[in-house]
Amino acid sequence: MEILKEVNGNSPRETIRDKQRIVVKIGSSSLQHAQTGDLDYTRLEKLVRELCDIRNQGKDVILVTSGAIAAGKKAVGIREITEEDQVRQMAVKQACAAVGQARLMMTYQKIFAEYNQVAAQILMTKNTIVDDLNRFNAHNTFTQLLQMGVIPIVNENDTVATYEIEIGDNDTLSAIVAALVEADLLILLSDIDGLYTDDPRRNPEAAFIPQVDELTEELLAMGKESTGSNVGTGGMNTKLQAARIATSSGVDMVIANSVDIGILHRILSGGEEGTLFVAHRDEAFDLPQFVSQLHRQ
Ligand code: GLU
Repeated sequence: MEILKEVNGNSPRETIRDKQRIVVKIGSSSLQHAQTGDLDYTRLEKLVRELCDIRNQGKDVILVTSGAIAAGKKAVGIREITEEDQVRQMAVKQACAAVGQARLMMTYQKIFAEYNQVAAQILMTKNTIVDDLNRFNAHNTFTQLLQMGVIPIVNENDTVATYEIEIGDNDTLSAIVAALVEADLLILLSDIDGLYTDDPRRNPEAAFIPQVDELTEELLAMGKESTGSNVGTGGMNTKLQAARIATSSGVDMVIANSVDIGILHRILSGGEEGTLFVAHRDEAFDLPQFVSQLHRQ
């Protein structure tokens, strides 16, 4: 499965050192303590410090962060949102997102400020990509922010987006952002080391796949529904969908374990960390068209 294709004499891992525009996605389960659901400030601080350091190297950095709903649930004292009443369940999630997004941003702003870094908030919906004028404006805003040296912090606008029928998960959202801003690299920080031939939590025979040169139908079928965590919405399926969007748009993508945030540095130094999906731009891939068909059931 591993194909060490060379680009101008460099392996795909070595070319990562020269990537200029980087999108990093972190999931809810990586941002909170599993036992309490409270924010893991140590992890958050390390993440922000790493991102500021990457920015200080002159690279463009965009953070796609989950955790709004989880932080909101915690703030208003909701442990579980029951499945009984779908309509109320949606309203509760959206209300929690409204509370939690503000909390999350307040925390990020505070830590980014400690490193003299300006951060901005961008909340997106499906329509941001599907509508031509919205997409044009969003692209211009991202470009302008990056020119100003600002780090955009992105999430789905869960408060107005009808959660299940919009983009729905931040793996997909981060790949959409990477495609929109013509990023060079997308890093998905997760609670798993990368892609395996099977679920390593259930099958000890599952083999780790360090590099994917082509996303075959067979690979896409290997996607699993669950990450093993009960927060966030991204399983391997959404990560493979993200890989499809990113690589078709000419963006390399790495899935890596967020347990040690220092992995970001090692990836960007060309280290063999996580699973690398090598970009293969597909001129026929139409981002707005693809996004318009996204519909989570
Ligand atoms: N946008 C959601 C939030 O911030 C999370 C989606 C996801 O976990 O993928 O809570």
